[in-house]
Formats: sequence, C-alpha cells, structure tokens
Amino acid sequence: MQNLKSKEALIKLFNNQQKNQFYVGNSTYKQRLKKLNVLKKAIEKKYRTKIQEALYADFKKPFTETDLTEIYPIISEIKHVKFHLKSWMNKQRVATPIALLGASSYVKYEPKGVCLIISPWNFPINLTFSPLISAIAAGNTVIIKPSELTPNTSHLMKEIVEELFDEQEIALIEGEIETSQELLKLPFNHIFFTGSPSVGKIVMKAAAKNLSSITLELGGKSPTIVDKTANIKTAAKKIIWGKFINNGQTCIAPDYILVHQTVKSELLKELKKQISNFYSNNPAASSSYCRIVNEKHFNRLKDHILKAKQSEASIELGGNFNKDENYIEPTIISNLPINSDLLQEEIFGPILPIISFQNLNEAINYINSKEKPLALYIYTKSNKTANFIIHNTRAGGTCINHNIIHYSNHNLPFGGSNNSGIGKSHGFYGFQEFSNKRAILKQHTKGSIEFLFPPYSKLKQKLIN
Ligand code: NAD
Repeated sequence: MQNLKSKEALIKLFNNQQKNQFYVGNSTYKQRLKKLNVLKKAIEKKYRTKIQEALYADFKKPFTETDLTEIYPIISEIKHVKFHLKSWMNKQRVATPIALLGASSYVKYEPKGVCLIISPWNFPINLTFSPLISAIAAGNTVIIKPSELTPNTSHLMKEIVEELFDEQEIALIEGEIETSQELLKLPFNHIFFTGSPSVGKIVMKAAAKNLSSITLELGGKSPTIVDKTANIKTAAKKIIWGKFINNGQTCIAPDYILVHQTVKSELLKELKKQISNFYSNNPAASSSYCRIVNEKHFNRLKDHILKAKQSEASIELGGNFNKDENYIEPTIISNLPINSDLLQEEIFGPILPIISFQNLNEAINYINSKEKPLALYIYTKSNKTANFIIHNTRAGGTCINHNIIHYSNHNLPFGGSNNSGIGKSHGFYGFQEFSNKRAILKQHTKGSIEFLFPPYSKLKQKLIN
C-alpha cells in the first residue's frame, strides 16, 4: 500500500507531536471549536460526494446509507460537542471535607497528550472521525491509522486530514498491519482502537509495554430476544433493517435471534416479507443492498452457508451467493446445530440464525454462556420481561423494541464490556476517554492544618478520631 511510512518517519512524527502537545493542549475553547467547524464543513459540504463515491467503490455502499451511517453521525456528534464543550472544559468544582478546612477542590479535564486512533473498515468515516472529534475536543494531538480494507475511503480521509490539519497536530498514516504494529511500539498517552476482540488483545498487550491508557471498541455476537408478547410485525421490520444495513457488517447488528417458540413461524413469515419489502425479491439488483468488503470475508460467509446446508439446519430464506461481486443473498437459517460456527463466531454479514426457546431462562442462560455482547436487543410489550432480561444479563448497550439506534444518542455512553470492549465513546464519555481527570486542591488559608504534622500527641490523635 502506498504511503507506508518508514519506522524513522513514524518516530519523527510522534516526537514532533509530543513536542507540540502543550501548545495543542492549551488551546482555548474557541480554537477547538474552530477545528471542529472546519471538519464539519469539509465532511458535510466539500467532501460529501467524494465520501459517497469512495464507499461505493469500496463495497457498493448505497449513497443514502452513507449519508445515514457515516456523514450524519459525524455532523451530529460535532454539533453535540460544540454545544457542550465549554462546560466540559470548565473546572468541575467538588466539595472539600471539613477536615481540610480552608481548601477548595476541583477536577480539571486535561488532555492525555499524544493519542493513536486505529479504526476498522466497516464504517470507516464514522469510526475514524468520531473518536477524532473527542480527541480534538479534549485537546490532544493524534495519529490515525485507518483500515487497509477500504483503500478508497482511507486515501480520501488522508486527503481530508492533510488539507485541514497540521501533521504536528493531526496526521493520518495509511498502511497495513505492519504499520499498526510499528505505531503500537510508540509510547502513546492513549490508544483508541476499534476492531475485533482478537486484535484488541494485541493492542492491549502493546499498550501495557508503555502503560498507555486504552479504549477498546470491539465486537462479538449481539443477541436479539423476541418475546411472545412482542409486536412481531414491527419487530421484524426493525430487525431486518438492523441486520442488513451495511450488509450485516455492523458491530452492533443483531447477530442472531432468540424467539419464543410460539411466535417463531409468525416471525419468520414477517422477516421474509420485510426482506422483500426492503430489497425486492432479487436483492442482487437492489440499489439499497451493498456488498461484502472483500474476497476473504466473502469466502468466510460462503463457507458458513455451505456448512449450514450440509447440516440438519433449515435455510429459511436465501443461501445463494455470487463470487464475482462478493454478493451474499440475505439469508435466514433455523435449526442450526448448537456448536456450528455460525452460532460461535461473530457473523459480520447478511446471515441471520434463529433459535427458538420455550422459557425466558433458557434464552438468558444461552446468552450468559457466551462472552458479554456489545449490544443486546429485546422485543416485548412487557416491562417486567424487559427488566428481567436486563437484570439477568450483561451487555455494552441495550435497545428495547428497537436495535442499533442507541448508537446515535450522544447522551448515552457507547461501548462494550470486557470481550466486547473497554471504555466508552460519544459525547461527554468520549471527551472523558481522551482526558485525564486531574485532581486539584488549593489551600487558601495562610496557616496549615496542624494535626497533620509531627510531633503527634494524644490531643492530635483525639482530633483525628
Ligand atoms: P480488525 O481488528 O481486523 O482491524 C481493525 C484495525 O486494526 C485495522 O486498522 C487493521 O489494520 C488493524 N489491525 C489488524 N490486525 C492487526 C494486528 N495484528 N496488529 C495491529 N493492528 C492490526 O477489525 P476489522 O475487520 O477492521 O473490523 C471488524 C471488527 O471490528 C468486528 O469484530 C466488529 O464487531 C468490530 N467493530 C467494533 C466496533 C465498535 O464500535 N465496538 C465498530 C466497528 C467494528
């Protein structure tokens, strides 16, 4: 890949950013706003068409879907940050105990320093610029390493970053895994990684060498529970939207469905109907249906389908593919063997397994037998059922009677738990992630609190107790 920087060039860039970190870190609210405005204008206006074209070239992503899932989230995140940044940057006063008489205390959110953002390919604009917005808001310098799997979008992001920012403040380095590995050797103050749990572990190990703090936005299998009281028609519509947007290549896509057996056949009927409503009976010809990012991922998904066909599973819908286009038909599969790869690995594609259950505890035990998911979705008309599921499971986030859209509420923290992630992003949570909460106590009185100092006496002991 072009633009692979030599090891020496990376070190030089890092050192320059390190030298520049106090200049950037001491930037005022207005200076930070200016940077956010420049980024907003570029993405919303000048580069919007180019972004749509780059993503279409990378995996035939429909222009409208790019507006919805790449451009809109960035613009709205910037608007949210602009609205709140002044108060976030203010000293956060806290109470001081009476024992520390005459002192006042506050928390100062200071920048972490030099940060690294490593981003994935599935929403490359959104998942690169969203953490960048938080990093800028918090006053950091940043080196970005986007994914090599969406080269058109990565080139374009480089063009945008180079046009808007000085590289001593924000730089974007294209490259493959080796570039990531070289960057990970440097003593960054914070590393924000979005990607798979397996690479997350590599990043965490590398960060440990320098004790860099980390945010890991990872993935995994996000379950969807459909209870017998659910409105099946609307549940089906929302699930199909959440599953097949971006061709299932979404970290918070419903990975599989757990449905109460009494409503399974009704749900199946509605799911099939919705696929045809959204993508017609020939999704290959639909301009709303994108493609798998590359041949490697296409083969992985094709193998899943072939294995399912050879097992006792039932292909309820789809199951066809076209290698020339990296096209996988929207596919619904039921009765999968419990140990099949489709039920063990994150699917990250347009294949939707359905498992039925007889009582809720079965569904809950199944979810709890796996790693904590990034998202868990619940369709039910019963608050009691929703609360029961929430209290007896763990997940990064949950939607009740919807999926995916919790991502777009900037007032909610976004992220996983353990295997699905460490740390949170978006809004104030993103700002906090890129900041050190510095504790500051100021003694105002001239004198000092005498009982702190030796020689210790019985009277001082009494005062302490
Ligand atoms: P990935 O982990 O393969 O790659 C992510 C980034 O890490 C890329 O920039 C890549 O170049 C780099 N990388 C890959 N291998 C590396 C290595 N050995 N050492 C250092 N760097 C390495 O992930 P992906 O395929 O790009 O994205 C899909 C995964 O990301 C899925 O698991 C998905 O669930 C997850 N994801 C999570 C979120 C979230 O917000 N939690 C969002 C999108 C995707």
